[in-house]
Amino acid sequence: MSNPASIATALKGCSTILISAHKSPDGDALGSQLGLMLALEKLNKTVTMHNLDPVPEIYRFLPHNERIKIGKPVAGRYDAYIVVDSDPPRTGLFEKSYPADILINIDHHITNPLDWPLTWLDPDASACGEMVYKLIRELGVPLDPDIALCLYTAIFTDTGSFRYSNTTPESMQIAADLLEVGVDPWLVTENVYESVAYRRLKLLGTVLANMERSSDGRVAWVLVTDELYRQTGTTAEDTDNFVNFVRSVKGVEVAILFRQTNKVQYKLSMRSKGRVDLSGLAQTFGGGGHKNAAGGVLDGTIEEVKERVLGDVERLVAAHLGKGGAIQDGRSS
Ligand code: 5GP
Ligand code: MN
Repeated sequence: MSNPASIATALKGCSTILISAHKSPDGDALGSQLGLMLALEKLNKTVTMHNLDPVPEIYRFLPHNERIKIGKPVAGRYDAYIVVDSDPPRTGLFEKSYPADILINIDHHITNPLDWPLTWLDPDASACGEMVYKLIRELGVPLDPDIALCLYTAIFTDTGSFRYSNTTPESMQIAADLLEVGVDPWLVTENVYESVAYRRLKLLGTVLANMERSSDGRVAWVLVTDELYRQTGTTAEDTDNFVNFVRSVKGVEVAILFRQTNKVQYKLSMRSKGRVDLSGLAQTFGGGGHKNAAGGVLDGTIEEVKERVLGDVERLVAAHLGKGGAIQDGRSS
């Protein structure tokens, strides 16, 4: 395993650098990628950014996001290739070989397989943005308002606005430093949470109207199908965070979003309230993640996928919390 000092040393000797984040990028992926790009440019590096999927509308306020190249193939060869907020396969961009000799992975997902020697993994970091902040310090680059905005957005989104249990004193100290540099917190909030597309809220309404739960109320789930996207003119990007509404239900310990990605393939997004660890289960589905937020992709019809996942999740909940009783909340709530 590597560390910020070795990564900074490796980067100082490079002049061309490619940076990627994971497919379906979120605020942490994009904020980390853009913040690091801006810092490396201050060291006169030539930096290219390339992701599989486009920048979601809500993150188009991030400075220079329009410079991120999208889709396959990835052109060119570079001195170094950096993958942020993801293990290298989850970029979805390369099969086997990568377009650089120096391969650097900066990530905070406990399930990262540490495939590259220059992997710096910090599962205690609330966001990859915290790690990029430390690397930028190590590189000796002063923060500026654009870098600060990117890193603040990364930490703000991955901590659920500083509400999740991954929020530490250090996350708050770093965020405070970024605010000192001049970040406008309302600019971030307004773009990320107060600019919801009308079509997205209509989709959420339909999806939640069809929410289901187990007989003990501890597992609840929703489904988004291709048919529903067609009916509402929406895309996968519009389902971001839906699973959190499902988790918010009283009595729910684990929430699941099944999102169709192909005729017989579904992406899973799972969330725990903190008493059930989901990261290991996600790995058995070929995915990964954190204790309280994990996911993966499963092949099969919705009946097959639901049967497997709900069975496994209910067993996992019982293993952590014992046998459940009937739903307690009296009314039909
Ligand atoms: P989300 O449910 O928001 O897509 O993902 C929640 C967390 O689960 C993410 O932080 C990510 O680490 C992890 N995750 C989701 N899908 C996958 C996947 O297909 N592979 C891996 N390795 N991790 C995933
Ligand atoms: Mn992250």
